[in-house]
Amino acid sequence: MSYVDEVINQIKKENPSEPEFHQTVTEVLKSIEPAVLEKEEEYRRDALLERLTNPERQIKFRVPWVNDEGEVEVNTGYRVQFNSAIGPVKGGLRFHPSVNLGIIKFLGFEQIFKNSLTGLPIGGAKGGSNFDPKGKSDREVMTFCQNFMTELYKYINADRDVPAGDIGVGAREIGYLFGQYKKITGQFEGVLTGKGLTYGGSLARTEATGYGLLYFTDTLLKNEDISIKDKDIIVSGAGNVAIYAIEKAKQLGGNPITASDSTGWVYDPEGIDLKLLKEIKEVRRGRMYDYAAERPSAEYHEGKGVWTVDGDIALPCATQNEIDLNDAKALVDNDVIAVCEGANMPSTIDATNYFLDNDVLFGPAKAANAGGVAVSALEMTQNSERIHWTFEQVDDMLKNIMVNIFNNISNAADKYNKPKNFVVGANIHGFEQVADAMQSQGIV
Ligand code: NDP
Repeated sequence: MSYVDEVINQIKKENPSEPEFHQTVTEVLKSIEPAVLEKEEEYRRDALLERLTNPERQIKFRVPWVNDEGEVEVNTGYRVQFNSAIGPVKGGLRFHPSVNLGIIKFLGFEQIFKNSLTGLPIGGAKGGSNFDPKGKSDREVMTFCQNFMTELYKYINADRDVPAGDIGVGAREIGYLFGQYKKITGQFEGVLTGKGLTYGGSLARTEATGYGLLYFTDTLLKNEDISIKDKDIIVSGAGNVAIYAIEKAKQLGGNPITASDSTGWVYDPEGIDLKLLKEIKEVRRGRMYDYAAERPSAEYHEGKGVWTVDGDIALPCATQNEIDLNDAKALVDNDVIAVCEGANMPSTIDATNYFLDNDVLFGPAKAANAGGVAVSALEMTQNSERIHWTFEQVDDMLKNIMVNIFNNISNAADKYNKPKNFVVGANIHGFEQVADAMQSQGIV
């Protein structure tokens, strides 16, 4: 059995109830196998893959809090500090009822390679809670965030671990978390990113993941002499990533025609009305059916099905495993040209392989959505220097980072005789830098 297969089996055996974690470890290790083979003796001797797939530290804690009715509720909090070989660890916090340790480990493992791909000095981590902010009052969200931070603050600081937002954690939650950190520690430091502009946030952070996704997609298409102009774009999600992907897609001349949430999706052949979508999602915290009710050109569909829409480019921006093999087949039947992942691991392994086998240009999440964490790292730099860059400065840096990511992963794919396989390219390029740093630092 190969070294990679041994480690995959061991991970499955030692972490039996974590299917998403098995999925990402399998996907990453299988695709870096050619690079591992070149140094197999050394890596085996130093148990490099075993160390890479085991978090440096995982923290699980209870979060008791009192709701508006005066009742005590108890949620579970997590922080997995996966790998600090190339810098202080960094990765978002997710508040969603589906959160469990396996989900956080899958996200933290992915984050190691994504952060490495940005070329910036940040290690990988992830955290969150099974708390559901949906339907909670502002006061309840504040109380929960304060109690969550009352435990988490012991394990984080600006040079050690810098969390950010993710599903269910936006500007409001980051504000409450930061306030509580400052109150407990007495330190005003860049311990969280995605902060408000009046207290250390970076311009363009809100837009970064969605904009970065489009800079990546545009570069990928240009490399094939294809223009994004007038292309119909199928987008899933209607949160932070989806909204700013739609905004930049429109600025580049594309035509985003769908958006979705966990209740349903809309098809709007005239192009998504961004102002209306922002009003409904960012201001009213409403649902996609509210959008359809106010937009005559839009059709509303309950449940799943957005991938059956005929379009040129697909941008999954909602959640993990939202594209399965059947969805991939539907997209390929409709001659989709490119699929670039805004969400983390939105395609199952079968779906990813189907895209690659059918010559769809496929931009994997850890490369295509790295713009968010890249600008978060730029926020850390601004905090350390106590300066603010302009929107244009940050946006220019983001654009350069995304173009560099594409070039680096494309070169890595070529080097290992897998041209245009950006999954292999991204995993190998991300891995090589982390592996080198780990080997230099000894068995720790
Ligand atoms: P948001 O919470 O802002 O939005 C998530 C969107 O996806 C919402 O429209 C939500 O609908 C929908 N969604 C969530 N879970 C499900 C589900 N199980 N089924 C169907 N729809 C669902 O999150 P973000 O936009 O920040 O994140 C989206 C994805 O992008 C995640 O995978 C995240 O990890 C990834 N990501 C985010 C980054 C960032 O900077 N924000 C950076 C890199 C990756 P509803 O409101 O109904 O739940």
